[in-house]
Amino acid sequence: MSLQTTLHGKKALVTGGSRGIGAAIAKRLAADGATIAITYAGNKAAADATVASIEQAGGTAFAFQADAADPAAQRAGIEQAVAALGQIDILVHNAGVAAFASLDEDSDALFDHQFGVNVKGLHVGTRAALPHIAEGGRIILIGSVSGELAFPSTATYSATKAAVAALARGWAKDLAARNILVNTVQPGPVDTDMNPANGDFAQQMIAAIPLRRYGTADEIAGAVAFLAGPDASYITGTTLNVDGGVAA
Ligand code: NDP
Repeated sequence: MSLQTTLHGKKALVTGGSRGIGAAIAKRLAADGATIAITYAGNKAAADATVASIEQAGGTAFAFQADAADPAAQRAGIEQAVAALGQIDILVHNAGVAAFASLDEDSDALFDHQFGVNVKGLHVGTRAALPHIAEGGRIILIGSVSGELAFPSTATYSATKAAVAALARGWAKDLAARNILVNTVQPGPVDTDMNPANGDFAQQMIAAIPLRRYGTADEIAGAVAFLAGPDASYITGTTLNVDGGVAA
């Protein structure tokens, strides 16, 4: 496999890079030439597999266990990544959790866990990484079309993803003077462990997607690679839906 070089020399940190969309992002940024650090919650075997895949393709990658819901662990994971990479040019906050619960079923614990990983973890992690992000850096947050659309039993998850997009818009303004660009990618339904493209829920979703299929993790990674690369140099504070038209 020949490496492209749009991100040659760049250092990228991808949270939740052990599986699903995060693993695809890590592999794609590596294929584009970046050196990669990933974090993961507990699945060391999957994290090691992502690293091995990148190394077999000729790239360089490191993996660090860091529970995004634990601020101290999140900060420690960022510090380990910075020690390995030297600096961060591209920060991708992908780690996320979704818990299906109607309002009757919802609880303080489900609320706190989803906001803890999806919002506070991202907030803690970005503040920890910021001193190590050079001018011209990119911060890409993985939100969801659920931040714009209501689906049954996903209100709290949707609220976390609306918060993600709001943080990106605000941070884009805070960091513009340093030419650090901040954007959100909002996937629609993507076939991963979180949202497998089979079963009753998937069939209902597919009926509502104009392109009539789930997306792939690689299709999300392609959008992230674009926002991380030289062609996105005038894009900040935006949300890019990669969703088969479901939010149109
Ligand atoms: P998966 O469940 O397949 O993978 C989740 C990844 O996040 C894993 O690498 C997991 O690590 C990591 N992770 C989970 N919890 C934590 C935590 N507390 N601390 C650190 N890492 C954690 O999810 P997807 O790939 O589907 O989702 C990735 C992102 O995309 C999420 O933010 C999700 O909300 C978003 N998204 C997904 C959609 C979909 O349809 N799949 C649609 C829209 C948005 P480990 O392997 O160790 O458990």
